[in-house]
Amino acid sequence: MASSLKIHPAHADLETILVTETSIKRRIKKLGAEIQQTYGDEEITVIAIINGAILFTADLLRAIPNPVRLDCIRISSYRNETKSIGKPKLLHSLTLDVTNRHVLLIDDILDTGKTLAMVTNVISKLNPASVKTCVLLDKKGRREVPFDAEFVGFEIPDKFVVGYGLDFAERYRNLPCIGVLKPDLQNPPEW
Ligand code: 5GP
Repeated sequence: MASSLKIHPAHADLETILVTETSIKRRIKKLGAEIQQTYGDEEITVIAIINGAILFTADLLRAIPNPVRLDCIRISSYRNETKSIGKPKLLHSLTLDVTNRHVLLIDDILDTGKTLAMVTNVISKLNPASVKTCVLLDKKGRREVPFDAEFVGFEIPDKFVVGYGLDFAERYRNLPCIGVLKPDLQNPPEW
């Protein structure tokens, strides 16, 4: 049998790696500890925003020792490949009851802030005990609405990134690191 591939084939499409697989693993361990410190022994109702947060949520949940309930929500795409087109909308309601629960929202990346501001607003109306957010990446310089996440993996510059759940036209989500595509593979999106 051939020896296992050392390099993920899609790596070849990256111009730069911004966050390595090793750094993601290390940071997630620390985030898990920060989250436990914040919630103590309390149960957490985790709501993942899919598809982008799938990989991050799967790894982060295994670093959180608290009891956890998990639900997923999907947001209608309000962007095309080049820019924002309208407002984000929740595509379906939650399955879990969040009344009096500690809700932790998980998303892949905080950019303009519109998605998490909208979702937090919707959840807050359901009378949870608390609502906090955790994002893997934060492009702080891109905010259009004021929003800060309580837990942040990495602050990154204003670049369109792919990998570890983040896509370009539904590709590259399976890359184990976060990177920037080669210029000839993307029309530089104005996110
Ligand atoms: P916001 O509503 O904060 O502007 O955007 C959040 C969503 O925009 C993310 O969940 C993600 O789907 C998308 N997004 C923002 N920046 C990037 C990026 O650099 N790469 C990818 N793949 N998606 C992004």
